[in-house]
Amino acid sequence: MPQAGCACENCRAAWASAEQRHWVSALGLLDTDTGQWFLIDATPDFREQFHAMQTAAPGARLAGLLITHAHVGHYTGLIHLGYEAMAVRGLPVHGTHTLNDFLRTHAPWRQLVDQENIVLHELTPDEWHALTPGLVVMPLRVPHRDEWSDTVGFVVHGPSRQLLYLPDIDGWDQWARPLRDVIAGLEVALLDGSFFSADELPGRDLSKIGHPLVTDTAARLTGLPTDVRFVHLNHSNPLHRHGPERTWLEAQGFKVGEAGDEWEL
Ligand SMILES: [Zn+2]
Ligand SMILES: [Zn+2]
Ligand SMILES: [Zn+2]
Repeated sequence: MPQAGCACENCRAAWASAEQRHWVSALGLLDTDTGQWFLIDATPDFREQFHAMQTAAPGARLAGLLITHAHVGHYTGLIHLGYEAMAVRGLPVHGTHTLNDFLRTHAPWRQLVDQENIVLHELTPDEWHALTPGLVVMPLRVPHRDEWSDTVGFVVHGPSRQLLYLPDIDGWDQWARPLRDVIAGLEVALLDGSFFSADELPGRDLSKIGHPLVTDTAARLTGLPTDVRFVHLNHSNPLHRHGPERTWLEAQGFKVGEAGDEWEL
């Protein structure tokens, strides 16, 4: 936020003040034992997010990217890795079979593979994959508009705690896994907070939104001890502002994810 060409209340505030601007959601993972860091999703704000990780973890190095799916907010930051910019060598990119196929066969992403800026590693949904000895991830396939690839969220397992990063899902009822069962036992859950409520999009058919509403998600998770934060907020979302919606959410025991939030796993 702000979104190109938009003059909604949130975007007007963001155009007027840099402090009101927000990056596209991503999550950095740092293994302090090995000095390696990873990024879940290469967003259009990859440049700033790379710099933020370098600043937060001086001396550590980028050791790989994990991509949830092939929608613009989640993979187009790969463009910075190629010949015209960083020209990295052999950076591991972890994705599902369909995501990797998409990158391997479509320009301009194909060039990153052909010129070996990136090396594709295939992730099997529902299986644990070790990024380092102390950092293990499991992709969970979720229902979503899968035009170019399927879509996953990631459970991240550190030496003692687990976190879920799930920025996009069509709806909880369309998922074979009951949400409360997935969340129970996790230390932290960063969930799809695209839209707060149906009022946010006057004149739009709710069934076509393709995201759960924050009000609905919060109702499903009341009473769980997990630290639940909503991320991946649409520019229209009133949770960007300090107002009654944010107050309501916090009264339910939930928060909005912010750039710079950190957890130790
Ligand atoms: Zn806007
Ligand atoms: Zn998406
Ligand atoms: Zn998205």
